[in-house]
Amino acid sequence: MSKIVRHNWDWAYPPAIRQQAVRFLALHHTVVYTSAEQIHRDHKDMGDAGMPYNWLIDLDGDRHEGRKLWQVGAHTHGYNSVAIGIAVVGNYDTHRAMPGAQLTGLRECIEEMREEFRGVGIKGHNEFSGNATACPGRYYPFKAALANPLETIPVRLRSNLKVRMRSWAITYNAKYPDDVFEIPSMGLKSDGWGESAQLLAKRVSYRVQRTDPRVVTSALPTRALYNALHW
Ligand SMILES: [Zn+2]
Repeated sequence: MSKIVRHNWDWAYPPAIRQQAVRFLALHHTVVYTSAEQIHRDHKDMGDAGMPYNWLIDLDGDRHEGRKLWQVGAHTHGYNSVAIGIAVVGNYDTHRAMPGAQLTGLRECIEEMREEFRGVGIKGHNEFSGNATACPGRYYPFKAALANPLETIPVRLRSNLKVRMRSWAITYNAKYPDDVFEIPSMGLKSDGWGESAQLLAKRVSYRVQRTDPRVVTSALPTRALYNALHW
């Protein structure tokens, strides 16, 4: 589960306030392996206000808040006023494999921004016209980062299983021997007669407790699970 890190950026000058609707998520890599603070300083040195992105995901998957969503970034030439900049630390033109934690943080970030700005286009930096760059790198994991969780969480519900949802908590009760509640990718399966379980969900992680009481944890977005249960 990735955490959000907020900074008190000392801007060289205040970033402009966004005047236009967000139409894109622009995906970047930083090329250099460095900290959010150092990127901020480097951009100030270049004459920028500072941290150019809206979000920066480090190698541990922690998500650093850069410019507020209502502030114009400095990452994609000609599109900053209509794009949210999401960068990952690293060079994905030379490194093939993104660390799992970073990929998780990236997925969560994209998922959240997709919800925030319905219908946005999602593109790599170099897919924006007039931006001749290798960014975000030939090995950038687009497919994994943009995977629709509904496609990756097979859910089986059978028989008389009752599933109740209240905000982010899911309670289900298996009443008959062939009741099955199964999400294989989560390692979650409930098929025991009289077994009940409660799934306590936070925004991006959840925990499954059974009566036995094994605990299964995972880091998939629960909103995806909610959608899956409401097919
Ligand atoms: Zn870029």
